[in-house]
Amino acid sequence: MKNKSPTGSEIIVAGAGIGGLAAALALHARGAAVTVLESASELAPLGVGINLQPEAVDAIAELRLRDVLASFAIPTSQSLYLTQDGIELARRTFGGRVQQFSVHRGQLQMMLYEAAYKRLPEGSIITGARVTGFEEVGDEVVVHTAGRDDFRGAALLGADGVHSAVRSQLHPGADPYLWEGTTMYRGTCDSDTQFLDGRSMVLVYGENGTRFLAYPISREAEKRGRSLINWVAMLPEHGPAELGDDGTRNIPATAADVVPVVRGWGFEWLDIEGLVAGSHDVLRYPMVDRAPLHSWGRGRVTLLGDAAHPMYPIGANGGSQAILDAMEFARNAASDVDMGLVTDVADALHCYEGERRPSTTDVVQANRRLNATERAIARRAPDELQEMSASGEFDRIQSAYARGDFDAI
Ligand SMILES: Cc1cc2nc3c(=O)[nH]c(=O)nc-3n(C[C@H](O)[C@H](O)[C@H](O)COP(=O)(O)OP(=O)(O)OC[C@H]3O[C@@H](n4cnc5c(N)ncnc54)[C@H](O)[C@@H]3O)c2cc1C
Repeated sequence: MKNKSPTGSEIIVAGAGIGGLAAALALHARGAAVTVLESASELAPLGVGINLQPEAVDAIAELRLRDVLASFAIPTSQSLYLTQDGIELARRTFGGRVQQFSVHRGQLQMMLYEAAYKRLPEGSIITGARVTGFEEVGDEVVVHTAGRDDFRGAALLGADGVHSAVRSQLHPGADPYLWEGTTMYRGTCDSDTQFLDGRSMVLVYGENGTRFLAYPISREAEKRGRSLINWVAMLPEHGPAELGDDGTRNIPATAADVVPVVRGWGFEWLDIEGLVAGSHDVLRYPMVDRAPLHSWGRGRVTLLGDAAHPMYPIGANGGSQAILDAMEFARNAASDVDMGLVTDVADALHCYEGERRPSTTDVVQANRRLNATERAIARRAPDELQEMSASGEFDRIQSAYARGDFDAI
């Protein structure tokens, strides 16, 4: 049995989500001692579809988990951007070294959890420990939790998601969720048919301003000749508004809420109305982000992922950016030379932030611009869309986003 010895130089991670677990694995691989505090009493495979961009897939490979990921995730072959009438606006293909995966978020989280459970010393991941606050005392951070004792470490990484308690303490005061005015519905359909090559992602722009995204997320379903299709319908309702601090809630909905919006939608190869009508676990939630912070952390405490930079789910980047944060955090915070010894913690965290805050701020802003462009597309007349297709304008915008050339969007 592996036993965990408290070193006093441990890095404490708040949250065993995608970013927190990736950070724990990356820190451990570099010889640092880690304790992960997770509020849920048990980790369960929650959520639906999520995408991993090529850079995040490389990070998963660095964590020696690429083969495991490939055993249950769908390697996306292409992203196809179409109007409701089937006019192709853009197409991005994947393959070779540039690979994107579509995956069930819960399966991804469980993959990371199982790897962390096996690799880290026993007792490194503590569930039922909701972080409520922290204080720096001398060269330690004392982390307070609800229902558990305090934990002491050399640093605290707030990977506690969109309702981050660590962020609230670091940045008290008004920090509202900013609603872009679009309401999103999300669901999955266990379909007996696969569309196109069974590995494509398709985004359809409707004449009523609605956008509809669909992609398969399960290799297991694929092996049975079926397709577990994740979809998101984005309905423009009004202009921007503030939603206060509770703006990210998923509200249970039904397929019947969405069917009228996509009535008659589809192509020969994809029955969109039928897909929605045959779906379960439908949720409604607002498209929100938060204003980018001018700094993430202070001293021995910093943030990662949704806690640091909640973003619109445009461009499918939320999970990927959390994983990239995790890798960069580990590169800075763990010393692979001194195996487990953290040297100048505040400096290391400052360097991490210097690497990741500007680039994630760019992604938050690029998502806003891409979203505005996409909303506008849905309002264009058919002849304008034909012209846009012929000119390759939207293809250029999507390629610029994929390259990270955000000024060109
Ligand atoms: C239940 C759930 C379902 C989701 N479903 C989807 C989905 O279907 N599609 C999609 O694109 N994105 C989904 N997301 C969001 C997605 O996981 C993130 O946008 C992205 O992966 C960034 O990861 P993260 O590590 O920053 O945050 P998350 O993956 O959200 O992880 C945050 C973790 O912190 C824990 N936590 C929260 N507060 C505290 C606290 N005070 N103390 C300790 N632990 C705390 C949470 O329980 C969670 O495990 C979901 C998130 C959650 C939590």
